[in-house]
Amino acid sequence: MGNETLINDRIDQLVAEHDPAGDRTEFMRAQFDLGIAWVAFPKGRGGLGLPHSYQDHVDKRLDAITEHRPTFFDIIGHGMGAPMLLAHGTDEQCDRYLRPLFTGEEVWCQLFSEPGAGSDVAGLSTRAIKDGDEWIVNGQKVWTTVAHIAKWGMLVARTDPEAPKHRGMTYFLMDMQAEGVEIRPLRQITGEAEFNEVYMTDLRIPESQRIDQVGAGWRVALTTLMNERVAIGGRVGPRHSGPIGELLDVWKERGGTDADRDRVMQLWVEAEAARLTNLRAQQNRTHGTPGPEGSTAKLVFAELNKQIYSKAVELLGAAGMLYDTYDLIIPEGPDDVRSDIRRSFLRSRANSIEGGTSEIMRNILGERVLGLPGEPRIDKDLPWAEVPRG
Ligand SMILES: Cc1cc2nc3c(=O)[nH]c(=O)nc-3n(C[C@H](O)[C@H](O)[C@H](O)COP(=O)(O)OP(=O)(O)OC[C@H]3O[C@@H](n4cnc5c(N)ncnc54)[C@H](O)[C@@H]3O)c2cc1C
Repeated sequence: MGNETLINDRIDQLVAEHDPAGDRTEFMRAQFDLGIAWVAFPKGRGGLGLPHSYQDHVDKRLDAITEHRPTFFDIIGHGMGAPMLLAHGTDEQCDRYLRPLFTGEEVWCQLFSEPGAGSDVAGLSTRAIKDGDEWIVNGQKVWTTVAHIAKWGMLVARTDPEAPKHRGMTYFLMDMQAEGVEIRPLRQITGEAEFNEVYMTDLRIPESQRIDQVGAGWRVALTTLMNERVAIGGRVGPRHSGPIGELLDVWKERGGTDADRDRVMQLWVEAEAARLTNLRAQQNRTHGTPGPEGSTAKLVFAELNKQIYSKAVELLGAAGMLYDTYDLIIPEGPDDVRSDIRRSFLRSRANSIEGGTSEIMRNILGERVLGLPGEPRIDKDLPWAEVPRG
């Protein structure tokens, strides 16, 4: 049986046995069990072991034969957590966490950044100390998106301060609702509090929630980050969709000068080139963790998005300066996003910071893709405890 026939059969079975207009969780659980959640994942893990490019076929066919099919997309859990767990988790961990992650029953967040460790995340200070079959965690994380609604957090903590910084960390799944976790909202330029500060005080994490080996935290963090860059920058929508589609809508409604038209055209060409490049990368990708090319997609996405929304707000004229509310809004879910050009303009400022700044993306591309000389890293082989910190 061909791959498309196999997928079509599974989709037909899903829709025949489960009402797409019915219960979302039940429908998505069945989708996972039939292997058409993430087709590139192995059988029994929500997939069919097929190349990534078949996911597009699944989504299009499901959209075509169902009017309002239940969907849920969580960029952190789906885009980063699931591939991380598949690459580094045990069978028990994959069995426990993947299905409720796909259905949205359990939302995930990412606990990497700290007040003293952002771009240099390997310098982080949050400590985890082994105590029997548990770990006791103390420290602070920051900019933690959706921490306030998450069930699980991907935590990197220092377990060996005497080892060089990259070798003394361990990766855990942390229960965000456990005793010892305090979450405080942080307000952004949009007025919303998508992200938070997270404090851990004598938090206990069972050994069963450790991911991969003790001391392998950096390796697992890299898998997470590589997937994050593709998840943020590598998504492929239809032509004219996304930010460039919104700019075209504003252009059609408001118009502008010849110079404006040239600029809109130029941005359209760049957006289309980026879209087609991502499409090609997606088709070439078979299985496994994406490489540093994900940084290209992330860099282009961030810089282009900022330019597109700047132009859209400029075309709006004085109306571009009006903003509906600066009241504190706390999103209720990962897909709870207000649709407004002015809000998107303000939010796009974060694109070149979140998931690694544009400067860091350029460093990665320079060193790992172009083979240029690396940055001087004087603390690389020093024990973390001996590295001076501010
Ligand atoms: C909207 C948003 C959501 C986020 N969500 C999360 C989340 O869910 N979880 C999480 O863990 N983190 C999250 N972050 C944090 C994000 O990953 C960090 O902000 C980012 O990695 C930069 O770290 P920093 O803010 O500490 O800046 P710094 O690392 O202090 O950088 C400051 C400036 O110095 C530059 N710089 C630093 N090092 C170098 C270098 N070696 N070469 C050249 N320039 C350099 C940077 O580019 C930047 O301009 C989020 C951030 C934003 C804006």
